[in-house]
Amino acid sequence: MKAETRDQVLEADLARYVRQVMFRGLDEAGQRKLFASSVVLVGCGATGSMLANHVGRAGVGHLRIVDRDVVELNNLPRQILYDEQDVAEGAAKALAAARRLRQINSTLKVETLLVELHSGNVLDLIRNADLVLDASDNFATRYLLNEACIELGIPWVYTGVIASYGMSMPIIPGQTACLRCVLGPEPPADAVPSIYTEGVIGPAVAAIASISAATALKLLAGTEPVQQRLVHIDLWETTFDVLDVGPPQPDCPACGRPRRYEYL
Ligand SMILES: [Zn+2]
Repeated sequence: MKAETRDQVLEADLARYVRQVMFRGLDEAGQRKLFASSVVLVGCGATGSMLANHVGRAGVGHLRIVDRDVVELNNLPRQILYDEQDVAEGAAKALAAARRLRQINSTLKVETLLVELHSGNVLDLIRNADLVLDASDNFATRYLLNEACIELGIPWVYTGVIASYGMSMPIIPGQTACLRCVLGPEPPADAVPSIYTEGVIGPAVAAIASISAATALKLLAGTEPVQQRLVHIDLWETTFDVLDVGPPQPDCPACGRPRRYEYL
C-alpha cells in the first residue's frame, strides 16, 4: 500500500477510536500499538465473550479464539456474544463469536480454532502472540498456559470467576511472579469450587473480565508499566481487594532456575 493511502486508512481508523485516543493512558501511540497487536484468547464462554468484546471493539489487530464448545441455552444469561439463534443452530462458540465480532468491528481479523488446548499444541497456538488471555474454566489449562507463556516470554492475564466473585492478575515472564509462584501447586480439581457446583452471575463475569480487559489494553499499548496485582472482587458482597503478590519465587518449577516444567 502506498504510504499516502496507508495514512488515510490510519486516519479513518483513528476517527473511530477518537475517545480512546483522547484517553491519556492510551493516546495515539497506544492506539497504534493496539492496531498492530495480536491476541490469543483461550476459551470463549462468559469470560471469553467479555474479553473478546472489549479487545475487539478497542481495535486490536488480530484475535485468535481457541474454543471447541457449542452455544447452549444456559450460556445466554452471561455469554454476551451469543443469542438464541446461536443456540438453535448449535453453533460453535468460536465461530459464533467471530461472526458477531466482525459485525461489531469489520477491521478486526478474527481467527478461530475449534480445538482443546493441550501440551502438544499450546506452543504453536500462542507463538507470535503479543498477549494471551486466559478465559478457561480449569486450573490444569491455566498452569499449562503459565508454562507455555514463560517458555515463549509472552505476557498473559489470568481471570477466574465463580458465583459472584473472581480474580484477575497479569503475569509478565521475566518481570513478575507467575501463576505457580502465587498459587503454589495446582489444587485438585475436586477440591476447588466451580461454576458447575456454585453457579455464576453475569455481573461478576462482566466486572472481573473488564478488569482483565483493561489490563490487556495497558499491556498492549505499552504506554505505562503494568504492576502485578491480584484483584479479588465480590459483586454480591460489594468487596474489592487488591493484593501485592510479591516477587517471583526463585525455586518455582515454572519460572525459577532451572525450570522444571510440570505441564508443558
Ligand atoms: Zn513462578
